[in-house]
Amino acid sequence: MDRELATFDICIIGGSIAGNYLSYLLSKTNLKILVIEEHNQVGLPLQCAGIVSQKLSRLIDLPPKLILNRVHTAKIVAPSGINIKLTGNEKPYIIDRIGLDCLFYEKIKENNNIKYSFGEKFKNFQIVKHRKEKLLLIETNKRKIKANILVGCDGPLSSVGKILGVKNDNLFATQIRIEGQFDENEAVMFFDPRWREFFAWIVPEGKNIYRIGMASSKNIVKNFRIFLNKLKINLDQKIDQQGGLIPYGLMKKLAFKNVLLVGDSACQVKATTGGGIIMLLTAVKYAANCVKNCFKIKKFSRRIIKKYYETPCKIKIGRELKIHYLIRAFLEKFSEKDFEKVFQIIKTSKIENLISIYGDMDFPKLFIYKLIKNPLVIPFLIKFLLKNTHIIVDVIRML
Ligand SMILES: Cc1cc2nc3c(=O)[nH]c(=O)nc-3n(C[C@H](O)[C@H](O)[C@H](O)COP(=O)(O)OP(=O)(O)OC[C@H]3O[C@@H](n4cnc5c(N)ncnc54)[C@H](O)[C@@H]3O)c2cc1C
Repeated sequence: MDRELATFDICIIGGSIAGNYLSYLLSKTNLKILVIEEHNQVGLPLQCAGIVSQKLSRLIDLPPKLILNRVHTAKIVAPSGINIKLTGNEKPYIIDRIGLDCLFYEKIKENNNIKYSFGEKFKNFQIVKHRKEKLLLIETNKRKIKANILVGCDGPLSSVGKILGVKNDNLFATQIRIEGQFDENEAVMFFDPRWREFFAWIVPEGKNIYRIGMASSKNIVKNFRIFLNKLKINLDQKIDQQGGLIPYGLMKKLAFKNVLLVGDSACQVKATTGGGIIMLLTAVKYAANCVKNCFKIKKFSRRIIKKYYETPCKIKIGRELKIHYLIRAFLEKFSEKDFEKVFQIIKTSKIENLISIYGDMDFPKLFIYKLIKNPLVIPFLIKFLLKNTHIIVDVIRML
């Protein structure tokens, strides 16, 4: 192997939230890190509605200036237009997502052991033998690099994942920012059979600015226009527009020989809301711990990476992500009548109270257990499952 090639301990592909937070957590080690980012700066293009639970400030030291607003109510609108309003202890943050991506980068950009290379695109990697060691030979559009560990933080269309046979199913998402006359304290979710894999949203950014978006597997442009017309919004009024992909499905395999997948690349995303930030930040903590252990014991095998990264991740977030996926499977099969029935149950029973006490945007297990024990929910659930028996098959397969 060419001895002149640049050599790093870790090569991270993607300088967005997952890649930057991982670099930050590793910045106190002496490990030599290279972050390869195909865009020319951190945080852009923006692809996020920026609604995140309060857990964010328990996971990271969140500067108050990154919190643009907080919502008190989640309004859920059924296809027929009827709605329920949920309030609880959870008052999610609306964050400055570009600021969040830059937060960790700014903290480490002067660190001599961490190098960012912008405008460089990862292409391929292979494992090669060098003296007695097995190393990665990583290829970009500019050069070849040697490293012990490669981390794919390269988002929904992960090239690292593709080489390892991991491929996400992605939904198309689009969003505009607009000045408007909605409620600054309320986030709204609109369900409709035309975009049944997901929902449309209004997220109040604060200062009378609203993020209005939608995600779906098809016809996103047409459906978004119809949706905006319904809200009496003209696209010409927009301040700006964003688009992106949201991985949809269950969390993928995370551990490979010398390689880890983190964040959207491994579908660490809630299937109910498309939210990835809390899940991936949780996963990054395990990834950082795993990388440190690998170098401590000088082993980079799949078994070790699985032990320190994949297994704890599966226990902490994998099970909850499965519940999100199941909720989504239910919602996709909901007819207009089902929505009405469920909304009726929520309005007339004590479920709103349950949501206040147990509702958790990220970890819904406890709330779901309480919900399915409710005497009004049980008959609806049985009837619904008898109509949609494949969901029972999905549940059994997941367990
Ligand atoms: C419209 C929209 C709204 C969303 N709203 C929310 C929300 O409200 N709340 C929430 O929690 N989540 C939300 N999400 C999801 C959230 O944005 C993602 O989960 C999060 O950005 C994933 O971070 P990541 O670092 O894993 O990947 P990404 O943010 O996708 O970053 C991947 C990085 O890798 C780089 N890259 C990719 N390929 C290569 C390559 N070959 N070489 C070099 N660099 C490469 C990219 O340029 C990018 O910078 C939303 C997503 C979308 C699309």
